[in-house]
Amino acid sequence: MIYIFLCVDFDRDAAFPVIGHKHAVSKPRQAEIQDILTDPEKSAEIQGSIEGFDQILSFFIQKKLPTVFYFEARTIDLISKRHPEFLERLNQTFFEKGVHGYDHEDLIGEETGMPLESQEEFNLIKKAKERIEELFSTEVTGFRAPYMRLSENTLKTLMDLGFVYDSSIYQESDKAINPYSDEHGMIEFPVIKTPKESLMKGMYTYLWPLFEGKREINEIVNNYIQLIHNSTEDNSYISINLHSWHFAYNVEQNCYFSQKEIRKNTDFLIKLITKLEEVEGIHFSTPKLWLEENELLRTM
Ligand SMILES: [Zn+2]
Repeated sequence: MIYIFLCVDFDRDAAFPVIGHKHAVSKPRQAEIQDILTDPEKSAEIQGSIEGFDQILSFFIQKKLPTVFYFEARTIDLISKRHPEFLERLNQTFFEKGVHGYDHEDLIGEETGMPLESQEEFNLIKKAKERIEELFSTEVTGFRAPYMRLSENTLKTLMDLGFVYDSSIYQESDKAINPYSDEHGMIEFPVIKTPKESLMKGMYTYLWPLFEGKREINEIVNNYIQLIHNSTEDNSYISINLHSWHFAYNVEQNCYFSQKEIRKNTDFLIKLITKLEEVEGIHFSTPKLWLEENELLRTM
């Protein structure tokens, strides 16, 4: 059996780093005045995540589809205040909840020029974990770094804060992979990037190019089916990664989509899921469920 993880990075609309700011700024807000840019809350736009994710969320709920959400704490906090009914819909037992920073911080300051001190990073991840646990009344065990960038302290910090796994590292592979345990005892669930010379060409398993109109849905479906067919090891996994706002917002054109376009993007993902469900021997799941079902790894 091959596991498929649907992973949603649930963040403010197109979170981008800005020089001089530790928090991310929504791309649609980047032309705003300094007062807005310096405010982590005011610089967060969540319209795309709310409007864009609405239809696919209904599909997930209707199918009770296991999905993992890595929440940017600011975004889910804003949703709890402005759209409590949306928060309720996200609060399903078959949805796993993880952390994706508080304000989508560039932990190493690669693009902001503002790296976080280790204590600052600890406090921030702790605050994000506690807020998400409070909002969903559940324990959070997984982490995905904003921009997939870990600092040299992050994994140790996660361990100290009681996280069980991280999923912020790319691994080149043309088939399903397995998690591994790192030096701190954290379990890493890498994200696949296919080799350039493979049949799938160089494909990150993020659906970014699909929603930006750079890859066709049939090509994406075929690539995932190829990944499954190449997979030989029982209980290995493939993750499908996406952003909450990407159904409704185009980064390159810096514009929001119409309802019709949101529907089209939603249908793309539904088609991918439906086609994969037809493949024998696959199983939609989450990293936490994988760990529960493959208990051995925890004692490694
Ligand atoms: Zn993100």
